[in-house]
Amino acid sequence: MIEIKDLHKSYKTGSNSLHVLKGINFNVAEGELVSIMGSSGSGKSTLLNILGMLDEADGGTYTLDGVPIKNLNEKIAARYRNKFLGFIFQSFNLISYKTALDNVALPLYYQGIKRKERIDRAMEYLDKVGLTPWAQHLPNELSGGQKQRVAIARALASDPKVLLADEPTGALDTKTSYEVMDLIQKINEEGRTILIVTHEHDIAEMTKRIVNLKDGVIIDDKKVDQIKAQQYV
Ligand code: ADP
Ligand code: MG
Repeated sequence: MIEIKDLHKSYKTGSNSLHVLKGINFNVAEGELVSIMGSSGSGKSTLLNILGMLDEADGGTYTLDGVPIKNLNEKIAARYRNKFLGFIFQSFNLISYKTALDNVALPLYYQGIKRKERIDRAMEYLDKVGLTPWAQHLPNELSGGQKQRVAIARALASDPKVLLADEPTGALDTKTSYEVMDLIQKINEEGRTILIVTHEHDIAEMTKRIVNLKDGVIIDDKKVDQIKAQQYV
């Protein structure tokens, strides 16, 4: 589903250049649930933003479901983003004056889907995340966990091939974090490919594979089963 080879990224600020990704290689197969771990500033969000086509690498190749992602004009990039990718963020990024239902339905509007189908699909996905009774509520009437579930429903409503989540539990307490991860696991079990950025080991261990990023390179890439087996010998 995802293939990256020798990916590089630098940020230029004035006359300085910060080399953040220094040759990243990794592949993600369809249906995987992967976490990208690393300390703050290690380049996790930079990598996820490139995978999410929100930013472009300066070097290397990125292929998404067989499509080389490079030098696309914004219109084509937007079409691929809608078709391939769903996003979840630490800060939920809900629109404060729109109901849960309208938040989930809005991206479908931009995809030209008719009103009745938008509402039906939004209700279907709110139901999937257990929020049917909250459909008509505004974000500030919802708990953090509920807001993140609205954001997950919104990301899924477009039926993306890959779900990308940047610190999805970063603003949640421990119990709520585990609930959100349970939901993410359930969505993965239905076959969706999911990548999660986190700096929390407990959260990473709720995925199936942990890719460790340090100083712009991958220093470790292991199946969680394998890590757990080593812990208990
Ligand atoms: P992480 O998500 O692992 O905390 P980031 O990918 O956000 O790390 O950032 C990696 C490094 O790149 C940090 O040193 C950060 O300050 C820098 N950085 C991130 N985004 C930008 C940007 N738009 N412009 C300049 N520097 C940036
Ligand atoms: Mg980050």
